[in-house]
Amino acid sequence: MAKTRPGVPSKIKTGRKELDSYTIKGTNKVVRAGECVLMRPSDAGKPPYVARVEKIEADARNNVKVHCRWYYRPEESLGGRRQFHGAKELFLSDHFDVQSGHTIEGKCIVHTFKNYTRLENVGAEDYYCRFEYKAATGAFTPDRVAVYCKCEMPYNPDDLMVQCEGCKDWYHPGCVGMTIEEAKKLDHFVCAECSSDDDVKKSRNGFAESPADDVKVETKRRKR
Ligand SMILES: [Zn+2]
Ligand SMILES: [Zn+2]
Repeated sequence: MAKTRPGVPSKIKTGRKELDSYTIKGTNKVVRAGECVLMRPSDAGKPPYVARVEKIEADARNNVKVHCRWYYRPEESLGGRRQFHGAKELFLSDHFDVQSGHTIEGKCIVHTFKNYTRLENVGAEDYYCRFEYKAATGAFTPDRVAVYCKCEMPYNPDDLMVQCEGCKDWYHPGCVGMTIEEAKKLDHFVCAECSSDDDVKKSRNGFAESPADDVKVETKRRKR
């Protein structure tokens, strides 16, 4: 008599295998883990989603699955877009996801804030990130950021600022009664407070290119 025994389920094979790279459909662009990509939004009228690729896998049927970590645009954050958020600003979120390789439309570069402000030309593929963002709570890291000007705002790299030769603070032309055109023509700028001070140093040595190059000690808690 044949021995019978309860059926032992065979081990489920996942058949997944990690890939070194993925070539974006219809292009010769190669994406690797650690790089940033643009993904087709579900709503065609919206700008593409931006993600950092964590891992690329092929399943048993050779479908490419991309493990990614989302960047949020300011308007997608709980606090919404603020005046100091630049057009190319992204927040690195704690929101991880798996997407089909087909949703990738292109590659992009997410720079550090400092490197972004030093770009000679900002291309369509250039973005920057200076905050990490917790999707569930809307909290930012760091939660403190340097502020400038009389309006005490963080630096928006899209907005021109002029540096006072006296106090070295940076000012928006509009906040000190100037037009942007007037500010662009200026060789020297001394703020009203420093103008009444005789000890203004006239030296241009150590002039920074933008507030991002400047280390400002005084920081302020961000208003929400
Ligand atoms: Zn201002
Ligand atoms: Zn000043």
